[in-house]
Amino acid sequence: MPLKIGITGGIGSGKTTVAKVFELLNVPVYYADAASKRLYKTDKELMQKMKAHFGDDIYNEDELNRTKLASLVFTDPQKLELLNSLVHPRTIKDALDWLQAQTAPYVIKEAALLFESGSVAEMDFVIGVYAPQHLRIKRAMDRDKTTRDEVINRMMRQIDEGLKMKLCDFVITNNEQELVLPQVLRLHEKFLSAALEPRA
Ligand code: ATP
Repeated sequence: MPLKIGITGGIGSGKTTVAKVFELLNVPVYYADAASKRLYKTDKELMQKMKAHFGDDIYNEDELNRTKLASLVFTDPQKLELLNSLVHPRTIKDALDWLQAQTAPYVIKEAALLFESGSVAEMDFVIGVYAPQHLRIKRAMDRDKTTRDEVINRMMRQIDEGLKMKLCDFVITNNEQELVLPQVLRLHEKFLSAALEPRA
């Protein structure tokens, strides 16, 4: 079984960007957000449960109505918890199935909600990607063509960034001063040697 590394961080911190650098080094990466989007479309059991709990019109044909779902869960913490209880077990299983097919010395799971979803428990190490808030806001606004208020609103729904970084084993700083590549290379070497060490 490969060593399992989680990558997490706040909105716009650069998780996906960092994960893509690891991919360039031939490290297999599981993107949790893309996987959950796929599961919403293809996992019949999940689709059925979603319709049972949130109404048939939560889907237009096989397409999840994200705007409607967001409006339902973001104003009601119990509905958000219900949604998480439906989705997280499916994504955890999907990630496990993916993992079992991997033969590389180590693999990466990139997930914004690594801690919140509980999947951190399956990781051997966690990397936090850190960028200062003003940069994260600017990058997310540019990428999503959205407003400052909308990005700040999304940020407020996640665990505090400082706390998240304290929970990580390693931090990659993705600001305008430090280069990402040497930081990734240092960790790559570390994970390759850790993967060769005998594990319990
Ligand atoms: P989210 O959780 O919101 O999906 P993320 O943490 O995965 O975000 P990315 O999508 O990797 O963040 O980065 C956000 C935006 O900032 C992207 O458009 C990306 O190209 C850009 N970006 C990331 N890192 C850098 C950097 N070092 N220099 C310039 N632009 C960057």
